[in-house]
Amino acid sequence: MGESILPKSIAIADLRYAAAVPQVPAQAAAPNGLLADRLGRPLHDLRISVTDRCNFRCSYCMPKDVFDSQYKFLPQSSLLSFEEITRVARLFVAHGVAKLRLTGGEPLLRKHLEVLIGQLAALRTPAGDELDITLTTNGSLLERKAQALHDAGLKRVTVSLDALDDTIFRRMNDVDFPVADVLRGIEAALRVGLAPVKINMVVKRGTNDQEIVPLARHVRQHYGKAAVLRFIEYMDVGATNGWRMDEVLPSAQVVQRLSEAFPLEPLQASAPGETAQRWSYADGGGEIGVISSVTQAFCHDCNRARLSTEGKLFLCLFASRGHDLRALLRGTAPDGRPWSDEQIAAAIGLIWSGRDDRYSELRSAGDAKASADAGSGERRVEMHYIGG
Ligand code: SAM
Repeated sequence: MGESILPKSIAIADLRYAAAVPQVPAQAAAPNGLLADRLGRPLHDLRISVTDRCNFRCSYCMPKDVFDSQYKFLPQSSLLSFEEITRVARLFVAHGVAKLRLTGGEPLLRKHLEVLIGQLAALRTPAGDELDITLTTNGSLLERKAQALHDAGLKRVTVSLDALDDTIFRRMNDVDFPVADVLRGIEAALRVGLAPVKINMVVKRGTNDQEIVPLARHVRQHYGKAAVLRFIEYMDVGATNGWRMDEVLPSAQVVQRLSEAFPLEPLQASAPGETAQRWSYADGGGEIGVISSVTQAFCHDCNRARLSTEGKLFLCLFASRGHDLRALLRGTAPDGRPWSDEQIAAAIGLIWSGRDDRYSELRSAGDAKASADAGSGERRVEMHYIGG
């Protein structure tokens, strides 16, 4: 890529997780939507974390004893503004991104989120197509916000729901939040047309695996084909959840249990890089998916980039190092002028073309050292900070 213009200082950025200020290539071709990383993977999805705060304290994600009243969440000034997020998204779209997912933390805690959705919905791909814009939420505020989100241009939502049983649900969210409110949020989303709603259940063996069949039955009976329930293997993200392999229930066992209650037939993937393996109910009652991030790693076609709340770009959910795009958004080039869109797009292109992360595949292959982020010993990024 030739000579590069380095920002005045290339110090490791300070806050939270290590992040280097990206190099800006001196000469770069304009984005052509054909970017590929070192393993030939295209860039298709951008997940944007809009807040690191959440009103739940699920023990597998934000355990209460770590994320307590003393925990210092990011100050408002660290967060990317809606204009900054939209600018970054536009540059990613020029590089081929067609799908944006807003996440967090709990994204519905970010004030006036519908304003951001409106700005993102106005973006178009180089071919002039609308973007696929979606959001992942715990559903606690969805009943109140579904209509405004839809009106602003949101297409779909994914709701996390780990149990149908109220006692188990309250215990898992660890803030005593009732499941009925989340169910009402799902119903509101369906009513306003945010469909199909994906419902994600993280399965922890011994904690909520008895809820697999009851939740499937509820979703089939009440939402039919308007909702797709997906079961996610409990992952070893971050460093605070005390993950243990014996708490992972392999997706194969989830499918086995479900098919004993409701016969299933496999479905083809609907899009390249799709994370879920899909199954349909043999009686035509809808479909389910399983996301086997632990037992069947899918790094080989991972086409997702993740933008943290404070503008750091992460190339893998298991990374410990990001690329500080905010430093370019807010900083100046050596000539004293703000970095231009072309320069920042070129920096993004350089980052993606150097990407070779495949943590989960290396972990599966037993390459512990390589999978521990090249043995750097750095703390892995937490899920609430870059989103799921
Ligand atoms: N607050 C939103 C929500 O609840 O969907 C968005 C952020 S949350 C981090 C995104 C997703 O990550 C949720 O579905 C959550 O269950 C999932 N998640 C968090 N930690 C996980 C883990 N250790 N293994 C698997 N999934 C996890």
